[in-house]
Amino acid sequence: MILWIKNARIATMDEDIPEASSAVVNGKYFAYVGDEAGAKQYVESQPDRDVRELDAGQRRIIPGFNDSHMHYLHYVKTKIHVDLTGTTSMRELIDRMREGLRHYDPKSGLWFVGEGWNHDFFEDENRFPTRRDLDLISTEHPIMVQRACGHIGCLNSKALELFDMTTKEAVEYSKYADVDETGEMTGVIKESLFDYFKSKMPAPSIEALVEMMIDYQSDLFESGITSVQSDEYNYTPEGTFFELQDRLRREAEQKRLRLRISGQALYFKPDALEEAFANGYDHTYGNPTLHISSTKLLVDGSLGARTALMRQPYADDPETSGLAMFTQEELDELVMISHRNNTPAVIHAIGDKAIEMCLNAIERARKTMPYLTPRHGIVHCQVTDMDLIQRFKELDVVAYIQPVFIDYDMNIIYDRVGRELAETSYAWKAYKDLGIHHPFGTDCPVEPFDPFKGIYCAVTRKGFKSDQPYVPGQALSVEEAVYAYTAEGAYASGHECIKGKIKEGFLADFAVLDKDLFSISPEEILETSVDLTYVDGECVFDRAAAIDR
Ligand SMILES: [Zn+2]
Repeated sequence: MILWIKNARIATMDEDIPEASSAVVNGKYFAYVGDEAGAKQYVESQPDRDVRELDAGQRRIIPGFNDSHMHYLHYVKTKIHVDLTGTTSMRELIDRMREGLRHYDPKSGLWFVGEGWNHDFFEDENRFPTRRDLDLISTEHPIMVQRACGHIGCLNSKALELFDMTTKEAVEYSKYADVDETGEMTGVIKESLFDYFKSKMPAPSIEALVEMMIDYQSDLFESGITSVQSDEYNYTPEGTFFELQDRLRREAEQKRLRLRISGQALYFKPDALEEAFANGYDHTYGNPTLHISSTKLLVDGSLGARTALMRQPYADDPETSGLAMFTQEELDELVMISHRNNTPAVIHAIGDKAIEMCLNAIERARKTMPYLTPRHGIVHCQVTDMDLIQRFKELDVVAYIQPVFIDYDMNIIYDRVGRELAETSYAWKAYKDLGIHHPFGTDCPVEPFDPFKGIYCAVTRKGFKSDQPYVPGQALSVEEAVYAYTAEGAYASGHECIKGKIKEGFLADFAVLDKDLFSISPEEILETSVDLTYVDGECVFDRAAAIDR
């Protein structure tokens, strides 16, 4: 089958032909990109007479978006949890959970979960919820509420009882489990302990999870997203991560899974990483829809919770400079194992100290085995000075950026780290100008996956409610932002020769927009929507058809 795209304004992201008015898809691939006359000539030269036409009516077409870091399975699971995003008080958190409890089915065997709160927005009490607060919702059912950052959670008394963690253990893990003045656990748990706990929590069956992942891919297609790079590990039932990969891979072969998922497989221990590689779960695993792109590692926490690891104590809390999940030696070992297997390590690091540790580990691996060149990267890379950014260039490190983060972070960064460091942080244009690869993403569900929000933040350097921009000199153009959201994403997952551009020989993944992103005001970017989304040259989302239904 041939698909002939006519009467279009195509932003190809291909520097050889940046703009085209017509393109032809033959099978899954773009076979021609250029003007109407060239397209006609190509179509007429083909023996295949099954030609369909897509008259774009002068609408803007771009490559499908690639969200370079998110948690797709976690997003899917938020659909069965109480949504606590936007809560402005402890009172409201409790009320929303009480309301949600009416729909909770204890027979499911699952815990009652809410997520998305951020105590910085609480107007009554500026603190984490505790077991006492959650016991007001229920003492009969186990309850967990997770902060928007995903690094901190709180359990009620019933959940603590089921989790079976003794006060003695809590004291042992005191860095990660808050204890009150009487020595009792408050219910607040953090970071790696929270991750461990989530992996132990009762979860829907693996079959149910796969079906949910297939069902909800349409949400992403509706936003023009055709590829994601996703870290699912903490959200699969314990010990089933590879089974999930195998099942998704089969669903991709059956064409039930169309969303392209590059796995950022999370590890904490060298043994587990070695074992995964020994079993073939390295960067060569998978097919063009479902594969493993990298080893995900976590070095620190979040800026909001002051668990991001800093070289200096926090300006607004000199008692702490954040939390390190690994020593330098431990991190070096994990990065080295991944490097030795030619698989990129992509490492969550937010504070400048954490970023420095990542760069040190990558430098060591590159020097030890210079004949291997996996595309190591740092996810978030928020708090930086220019010397650190220069090292990204020298060590060829990919910067995974979430532009939408400034909506919240621009309000706290000056308080957390002081003016000087704040003004060299989130320095997106610096990465671009130095030629450092800088794919865009959202960390969804920490932030919504809507790519137009990210483009808006990248272009304006503003939050959605702010008048003043944050370090406007680091703004990118719309073209640069779209490039970071498409072609750069493809580079990061190792697919720059096959997707991320509208180019002959590339997979025909693209989106038709209702507005021309490149000629509208920044405010209108936020009102842009996707009319049509194609994967492999086949329509996977059609707004008109969705409305008709
Ligand atoms: Zn993440």
